[in-house]
Amino acid sequence: MTLIGVDDTDSRSRGMCTTFLATQIAAALDDAPQACYLVRLHPAVKHKTRGNAAVAIPTNTDVSDAFSIATSIIEKHAVIDDPATHPGLVIASHSTDEIPPIVSDYSRQAMRKHKSLEASTTIINTQGYTVRGWKTGRGRIGALAAIGAPAAFPDTTFEYITYRDPSQIGTPRDVDLDSVFTAAEASYPDTWDTIDREEREAVCVPNTPGPVLYGIRGESPTAVKELSDAIDSEPITASMLFRTNQGTDAHLHDGSVGSLSNDTAYRVTGTVSTPPVTKPGGHVFFSITHNEHSLDCVAFEPTKRFRHHVRNLKQGDRITVCGEVTDKTLKLEKFAVRDLTTTTKTVPVCNKCGSTMESAGASQGYRCRDCNTTAPEKTTQPLPRTLSPGWYEVPPCARRHIAKPLVRGGFDAPIHPEH
Ligand code: ZN
Repeated sequence: MTLIGVDDTDSRSRGMCTTFLATQIAAALDDAPQACYLVRLHPAVKHKTRGNAAVAIPTNTDVSDAFSIATSIIEKHAVIDDPATHPGLVIASHSTDEIPPIVSDYSRQAMRKHKSLEASTTIINTQGYTVRGWKTGRGRIGALAAIGAPAAFPDTTFEYITYRDPSQIGTPRDVDLDSVFTAAEASYPDTWDTIDREEREAVCVPNTPGPVLYGIRGESPTAVKELSDAIDSEPITASMLFRTNQGTDAHLHDGSVGSLSNDTAYRVTGTVSTPPVTKPGGHVFFSITHNEHSLDCVAFEPTKRFRHHVRNLKQGDRITVCGEVTDKTLKLEKFAVRDLTTTTKTVPVCNKCGSTMESAGASQGYRCRDCNTTAPEKTTQPLPRTLSPGWYEVPPCARRHIAKPLVRGGFDAPIHPEH
């Protein structure tokens, strides 16, 4: 068996796509594989390719033939003249069942932090893999990570990606939205993030230029293919089933406030210490504290209705937040309410005249000057809450590839899924 790893062949501006290139390689092999592996790598890498995806293609073709086929497809289709594109190709002479632990460890690390080209070269050489890089060859990092990925991520989901006729690329995509919505509703939750019901958006259809017509994500090959078959659209010229680490939260570390690194994604628990504030642009900010350390959190405007839940947080609520920390601010993907503040303290009201009392001086309690009534301290009042304990998430229209939809289950509290 042979595994072909490919990365960094796409162009942000011109919309090539590494999954399409993998589909082209697969089609050129004598034994077209049933499925390829699509791995989403460290989301915070600054020079990342779009969506930071790399692909591994399994085949029975021998290494030297696989190398020449993959090389010719990359040179034909990769956007090598884009200044930001540095393709890499790594070929292993083993199957996905024989991935060495050092390679799967590398893939797990590449998911969570940026890897150097030197580190990948060392492993490529010691494993005797065949390698080729174009320009800086930075894509070798992701290509090696793709080789190890099938063994690195125990939680697996599927995406069935369909591609447009090349002559149509650049024109508006012709996908019948009614058929997408009907099929997606029938298939949910075996498939997810196909549509956003509230935004009336077909999330499966990309907005960017490029060869992808739509991509259907879900729990099984059958579920994603059946949903795809139920969609009416312009002609599909190619398609590929991918096993992936998408929708698994593989990027999240357990962390604690006060010891978090930038450009890393975390799951962190603390107490809301400043109330949510909506700033210009519609972004909602608040802070949490834990052991006298503080962390700023933000729900950006594109997270849409998720911000309603964020705005309903109150000081004293104990929550777990998930997302990537950049510039010392956690960009919220989901949060769990652990304990809600259910009371609030207010200045007492005079029981004779009904007006609000005034402070009688430091530690002197409160009094009404007109009636000479007093109260020793603030009054405890029930605080009505609209949030419930459990997990809240951004809607499908704002989901990152790697983030796990709540509907997939396995969370440590009740869930409030968005659909
Ligand atoms: Zn009074």
